[in-house]
Amino acid sequence: MSVPKVVLKPKRAQPFYARHPWVFAGAIERVEGTPADGDEVDLVSFTGKFVARGLFNAQSKIRVRLYNWEPDSPLDGAFFRDRLERAVRLRHDILKLNSPDAGYRVVFSESDFLSGMVVDKYGDWLTVQFTALGLARRQEEIIGMLRELLKPRGVYLRTEKGIGKLEGIELQDGTLWGEAPPADLSIVENGLRILVNLAEGQKTGYYLDQRDNRVAVARLCNGKRVLDAFCYSGGFGLYAAKAGAAEVLGVDGSEPALELARRNVAANGLTNIAFDCADVFRHLTEMVAVRRQFDVVVLDPPKFARNRASIPDAMKGYRRLHQLALKLLAKDGILVSCCCTGLIALQDLEELIAQAAVEGRRDLQIIERRGPSADHPVAVTCRESGYLKCIISRVN
Ligand code: SAH
Repeated sequence: MSVPKVVLKPKRAQPFYARHPWVFAGAIERVEGTPADGDEVDLVSFTGKFVARGLFNAQSKIRVRLYNWEPDSPLDGAFFRDRLERAVRLRHDILKLNSPDAGYRVVFSESDFLSGMVVDKYGDWLTVQFTALGLARRQEEIIGMLRELLKPRGVYLRTEKGIGKLEGIELQDGTLWGEAPPADLSIVENGLRILVNLAEGQKTGYYLDQRDNRVAVARLCNGKRVLDAFCYSGGFGLYAAKAGAAEVLGVDGSEPALELARRNVAANGLTNIAFDCADVFRHLTEMVAVRRQFDVVVLDPPKFARNRASIPDAMKGYRRLHQLALKLLAKDGILVSCCCTGLIALQDLEELIAQAAVEGRRDLQIIERRGPSADHPVAVTCRESGYLKCIISRVN
């Protein structure tokens, strides 16, 4: 039986020859055959030339997700197993991240040529997130492979908000296989014990992408007064406290996040750190009003824009945060500007920082431009997967 064909409109094949994995409905001329959602299809040019092979989903704006550019190899179990093995080799053989109680991202969707699935490992547990119906339909087979490759005690499914609507996936959070994660599940990251709540925590439980940035910032914190704005479960603040900061203040608007943060403080025997549950914009404004000063300010807000229309508002938010942070920073201060909004580029962030510094009459030097940890790679065929920026500056 031949594989159904998705035929592209004239002159629309170039991005897919360049191996971009998302075929939007607007690029498609017609579908030959009647693929069901999740079925394998061949993407062909208007003139009928094979371009790539992918999985079809009529319910998604991404009508086809592409996985394979070799005409003769099907998207079968062996294919997906090879992709998973490759992803694991990066983390285990190349990056050496696989100590037993480590937390790291094992599979990062497009970045690992597996558009629509994320796997994180937290000690003996895996969290799996499917954002593509085609892969969700193959979940049993994929979980079986992950079990063989990673030998977890349990696999927990996390769903992304709104994905049911976007992809037509009906999934529910919960333990998919093996033992349920214990309430006190924790990982060890650079010598710190970090509790991870797979069921209720944000993201898949923890922000693994900031691992190396936390180290980079901690190096600058000994003896300093540190403000960790948007601290979640402690993150940068825990590292700063362990590195010998004079005092650390973590601020977050989520009480459950701060509960976790306080438990992390206790688990690591730290005493030089406190938390305020508050809106960061309001709290920073209040601290500016009473002339509070810090030597290090970390800004790690959530994603501010999900589409192009909301970029101007997002930029306003980042600008306001930087204006406030600059007022709170003492001489020779360190400003850490993180931005996980993929639609805002490094250059945009730098421009915004530059403007805020000029407006605030501060001399600012960028001392490091950083991205996420290496277990969050960027596939050159899908540059959108490079979302996290972290700029460290010195301020006078
Ligand atoms: N720095 C953290 C990750 C931060 S994620 C780490 O290293 O792990 C972003 C955090 O911002 C979330 O914990 C969320 O609860 C918080 N948040 C979002 N909007 C907020 C606001 N307006 N005020 C305070 N906290 C906010």
